[in-house]
Amino acid sequence: MSPDIKSQTKEELESQFKAWGEPVYRVTQILEWLYVHRVTNWGAMTNIPKALRQKLQEHYSLGVLELVRKQGSRDTTQKFLWRLADHSLIESVLIPANPALYGEVSDRHTLCVSTQVGCAYGCKFCASGLEGWKRNLSVDEIVEQVLAVERWNTQQALPRRSEAKAGTGHTEAPETTPRPEPALPRFIDNLVIMGMGEPLANYDNLLKALKILNAPWGGGIGARKITISTSGLAPQIRKLADEPLQFRLALSLHGATDETRNRIMPVNRKYPLKELTAACEYYQQNKGRMITFEYILIAGVNDGLDQVVPLAKLARKLNAKVNLIPYNKVEDLPWERPTETAQEAFLAALEKQKITATLRREKGHDIDAACGQLRLKTERELAAL
Ligand code: SAH
Ligand code: SF4
Repeated sequence: MSPDIKSQTKEELESQFKAWGEPVYRVTQILEWLYVHRVTNWGAMTNIPKALRQKLQEHYSLGVLELVRKQGSRDTTQKFLWRLADHSLIESVLIPANPALYGEVSDRHTLCVSTQVGCAYGCKFCASGLEGWKRNLSVDEIVEQVLAVERWNTQQALPRRSEAKAGTGHTEAPETTPRPEPALPRFIDNLVIMGMGEPLANYDNLLKALKILNAPWGGGIGARKITISTSGLAPQIRKLADEPLQFRLALSLHGATDETRNRIMPVNRKYPLKELTAACEYYQQNKGRMITFEYILIAGVNDGLDQVVPLAKLARKLNAKVNLIPYNKVEDLPWERPTETAQEAFLAALEKQKITATLRREKGHDIDAACGQLRLKTERELAAL
């Protein structure tokens, strides 16, 4: 199968163009079609000679994600369910006006992207791992999640723009020429790699996709506005620390002792806290203050105040901020979120230890926003047909 053009870096395309004897400025034009206009077919690249378009088409594919289902909640967190070429389903979640949860500047739109179909890590509370791991996402499937949501946003914005024009009192004739996709300014300015899958288990594809999404010729999203969440793959955390790009790291801790973590996260048996925190320390030393702990509060499992002191100790050691997240109920799983009083008590106890912590009054609770839930529901519905 031919590689998708969105899995290629500018340098790779330039060397291909040189090999073809084509001028390299064409690469810049093509990248503009892909990442500024976000076109979905070769024919739309109107300033590229037909013969070259033909050659591109023979050499590369140009895949797009098919939107199967979209859910939006009252506070406008929106969830996109995509179908891939092999009919696998994945999710992306759009979170507007995100408070600065990971230390990034509070900004307009955050997109949560998936990196795998399913997940092999089988955390006991998580919908993504319930039906196991199917495959890694390719580079272009990761990149395309951002482009597809931006395209969707463009389509949403278009009627509003013409309404605005109508409202100005001008009397120009409506546009009749077929217009290329308008180059709207960037819509997504933060990425969180927290959708379905364990990102660091798809390391090479993830890193290449992020390089493309970060590049000025590509997605243009600053590395410091990209947060990678991991359940704790210690060797890959060290590897990430050696990369030149300054991504933020979110560690899904969910327990501050091996005993608690072992109960809910099988990965902890492979990389227990000692090894994990040593890897995080290495990351922290190389990257500065870039680590956040994710801590889902699950009633009767990890919300006991006995976790507070060891959690505070770990946070101090790594100079990490703690995000407390009330558990999102998953159908068929026995876990529950603690009462609000218990959540607040945990937060207060942590703050008393002088730890910077936030309690997420979770957006999107009503739309199955936690990773993997919409896919699971849809697959079950399809299976029941
Ligand atoms: N595999 C990576 C990234 C994807 S999961 C990781 O585990 O970090 C993204 C986050 O969602 C993790 O912190 C995960 O623990 C959390 N999560 C999973 N299921 C959840 C649920 N039902 N409610 C709240 N958070 C959940
Ligand atoms: Fe996989 Fe993350 Fe879910 Fe654990 S929490 S099963 S690592 S997606």
